[in-house]
Amino acid sequence: MEHNARIFVAGHNGLVGSALCRRLRTAGFSSVLTVDRGELDLRDQPAVERWFRANRPEYVFMAAGTVGGIMANATRPAEFIYDNLAMQLAVANAAYLTGTGKLLMLGSSCVYPRECPQPIKEEYLLTGPLEPTNEPYALAKIAAIVMGRAYRTQYGCDVISVMPSNLYGPHDNFDVTSGHVLPAMIHRFHQARIRGERALTFWGTGAPLREFLHVDDMADACVFLMAGYDAAALVNIGTGEEISIRELAHLVRDIVHPDATVTFDRVKPDGCPRKVLDVSRLHQLGWRHSISLREGVAQTYAWFLNELASAGPRPRGTTR
Ligand code: GDP
Repeated sequence: MEHNARIFVAGHNGLVGSALCRRLRTAGFSSVLTVDRGELDLRDQPAVERWFRANRPEYVFMAAGTVGGIMANATRPAEFIYDNLAMQLAVANAAYLTGTGKLLMLGSSCVYPRECPQPIKEEYLLTGPLEPTNEPYALAKIAAIVMGRAYRTQYGCDVISVMPSNLYGPHDNFDVTSGHVLPAMIHRFHQARIRGERALTFWGTGAPLREFLHVDDMADACVFLMAGYDAAALVNIGTGEEISIRELAHLVRDIVHPDATVTFDRVKPDGCPRKVLDVSRLHQLGWRHSISLREGVAQTYAWFLNELASAGPRPRGTTR
């Protein structure tokens, strides 16, 4: 990737998109293109095609999507399937029609079957039923993978697909209801500390195992793969390390509100019992994560506090 290449980051306000913009700019890429939602609805296929014709991106990171935690997936399943399918379709097709050199499609670890062996290898895609709590989202992401392969086969497009584990970091959705577990926990411990409350209850049994990757590591891996990987085979992006939701609650507590006590509400859903990616393909390609979970959570909490304190827009999902 030449330093003056025209690089489009779709979804630049989101968790991954904003990290990609930071990463590309610090690495010296001078022509990073973005477009605001109000100016271009990425679900609008003709409008997306017009935008591609006018702006001619050479590299596209498709990081736009309607995303959320277990509760958001349960309450807005139609938006999760429609928005994601429509955006992916419009962006991939416009990239093909206008001769984009390379497209990176961002997937999710929830594309893999609920009961698949762990750690999850890329080959397990489409080998069994999905986790029902996020099936509409997962199916949209699977469609994007299959679409990328089909465009590679029929039209020779250079489309790569990456599957990140659970991401966290600056610009995440910190809403306590619709956010993913890590930002929701940071926000809830923070609120409890401010209000002088000590007892916190989280969802499920606390037993599910998850892997968390800092979004700056994710952005670094995406730029690495965009620059040097060209194949139909998916690439998992993660740390290969896992932690239980209970241990995670303790880790976040120690950083945000050390006096708090943690209990679990078994009536709430657990989702997948275990989700950890096999990242040997990525390691073989020569990339490894560098931010530890403790370091990443401390950095994310510092960002969150700074956003709350600054006069600018506050973190998503929070009230002052
Ligand atoms: P998932 O990784 O796709 O299942 O999505 P989440 O990040 O929303 O949830 C991960 C796990 O954390 C699930 O087992 C949830 O039940 C559990 N969990 C515990 N407390 C919370 C919470 O406050 N918010 C969320 N989103 N999940 C929680």
